[in-house]
Amino acid sequence: MRAHALVTPNRSLPHMVPPGANAIVVGGGVAGVAAAVVLAERGARVILLEAAEYFGGRLGAWPYRLPDGTEQVVEHGFHAFFRQYYTWRAILRRADPDLSFLVPVAGYPVIARRWPDEDLTGLPSTPPLSLLALFARSASLSLRDVTGADRMLAMELLGYHAERTTRALDHIPAERFLDQLRITERARVMLFEAFARSFFCAPGGLSAAELVAMFHFYFLGNPEGLGFDAPDTDYRSCIWQPMVRHLHRHGAVVRAASTALSIEPAVDHQWRVQLADDVLTARHLVLALDPRGLKQLVENSPRLRRIAPRLAGQVAALSVAPPFAVSRLWLDRDVAPERATFSAVTGEPALGSVTCYHRLENPSRRWAAASGGAVLELHSYACAEPDAMRATSRMREELAALWPETRTASVLHQLCRYEATAPAFPPGHAGRRPEMRTDARGIRIAGDFVYLPFCAGLMERSAMSGVLAANDVLAEEGAAAEPVFGVPQRGLLAGWTALTRPMMVGAISESRQPPIRNGTEIYGNDHRWRPRSLAASADSDPGGPAAVPGGASADPHQTDG
Ligand SMILES: Cc1cc2nc3c(=O)[nH]c(=O)nc-3n(C[C@H](O)[C@H](O)[C@H](O)COP(=O)(O)OP(=O)(O)OC[C@H]3O[C@@H](n4cnc5c(N)ncnc54)[C@H](O)[C@@H]3O)c2cc1C
Repeated sequence: MRAHALVTPNRSLPHMVPPGANAIVVGGGVAGVAAAVVLAERGARVILLEAAEYFGGRLGAWPYRLPDGTEQVVEHGFHAFFRQYYTWRAILRRADPDLSFLVPVAGYPVIARRWPDEDLTGLPSTPPLSLLALFARSASLSLRDVTGADRMLAMELLGYHAERTTRALDHIPAERFLDQLRITERARVMLFEAFARSFFCAPGGLSAAELVAMFHFYFLGNPEGLGFDAPDTDYRSCIWQPMVRHLHRHGAVVRAASTALSIEPAVDHQWRVQLADDVLTARHLVLALDPRGLKQLVENSPRLRRIAPRLAGQVAALSVAPPFAVSRLWLDRDVAPERATFSAVTGEPALGSVTCYHRLENPSRRWAAASGGAVLELHSYACAEPDAMRATSRMREELAALWPETRTASVLHQLCRYEATAPAFPPGHAGRRPEMRTDARGIRIAGDFVYLPFCAGLMERSAMSGVLAANDVLAEEGAAAEPVFGVPQRGLLAGWTALTRPMMVGAISESRQPPIRNGTEIYGNDHRWRPRSLAASADSDPGGPAAVPGGASADPHQTDG
């Protein structure tokens, strides 16, 4: 298996946009910066607006002084940079062409109190070899899992197909899918529950279609195997500062602490963005905000809502995942030498992962070397505790049960965060999520919640949505697309499951599927649906003005989407 070309530029089109093309990108996280980088490199006059004092959004980092006087840069939490993040890595190469700041994170154990560790790294990357190797190697999978599992549901995991999987499984909670898969409790807890929680949702609140898509993206359809890398220093030094320099070199105006308050249509097909102390206009807008920020912006923009009712409906329906807690602990002593740099934790009510920062990034390594201590980061996804302090003490208790040496360690300092900023993927919502193209001509949406025509998750979904939004602008300006690569878009058994799925859906559904509304095209009585964006952007350069919906609408800002 290898990376698949998902968007191939049309070489007959110019690389650069015509003089005068301009764009405002709102949101300076992964999605917004990816869009801004591509547009600025192609000659568009780009203004990038970020509400926070620092860039990077949920991957952002900011300076922090420890009580002992040491300057550290801290962030929202540890991030795994998987090797199949082709789009995000291509953008990161602008900061460092060799990606030399990314170092492999050896091993990726899943740890639990009740069962021995499970390490999935180093499995072959081609299905069904990966699956066979998993069965051969994993102590969590037994003969009972092979003989007792619901084979039709198990085949769904191998039969990923964007439209068909979504249509068949989106309305089903991942929890019910796993119940009916009938694998042993150990296989379920060790192999699936930790995985489901990495998407910030408890399995009851996650769509089974999203679980199958992510299983395909990270495991069964991943040409790079399950390995990942992580920066060897803080994200500000290795990603955001070089990225801002790159944008400056390409003439972009980059403004931190600049919140977009509202958006209104302006003359000549332009859009006006209201800031606290300024008003900006541009032909193209890329809205790359987090779900809450986007809701707020659309809420404050009544004329935009009137022009773009479909976008307004999709944004209003966006939901945010339950809170997560991240606690960075500076301990007075090290943990046992055999502890992995990163461990996923499963079977605990709160603790979801633990990262030994002092074995990962240089500033923490230096602090630990000087103090003889350790820097740990504990994560709790879909956290049931009510606040940061209670989440931290719960996670510490659970860690002490897994790593007893931490029970007697003193915490010299701790930094605890508790927030709800991740998008949710609840059952039945796929057809209602915002798409990159909107019914407001000139406005594109990017972010890790956007319904994309291609399979990708988390940071890669953000980066891909940003590049696809930039490509849509390039298409309208008559320039060639930025190439996009991804994992194979179909599972090994996608053809087979097309035949068996009607039986499977009947068996797993308690009720008839609710109709999928937005993003749905219904032909006669046949509920064959395909996302709108799939039609226009798959496999080739959308190329030229044809990609821009024509002027059927009375309002020059409205498209028929
Ligand atoms: C603790 C944690 C761990 C994670 N681990 C991983 C991981 O291991 N691997 C992985 O791939 N992903 C991981 N993620 C997810 C990843 O961080 C996100 O998918 C990604 O960073 C989202 O990027 P984004 O650009 O879509 O959104 P954001 O990062 O949310 O960016 C949106 C930006 O818009 C700005 N904004 C909002 N409103 C306005 C406004 N009105 N005007 C101007 N700007 C505005 C915000 O300040 C923000 O900077 C993790 C996330 C967290 C929180």
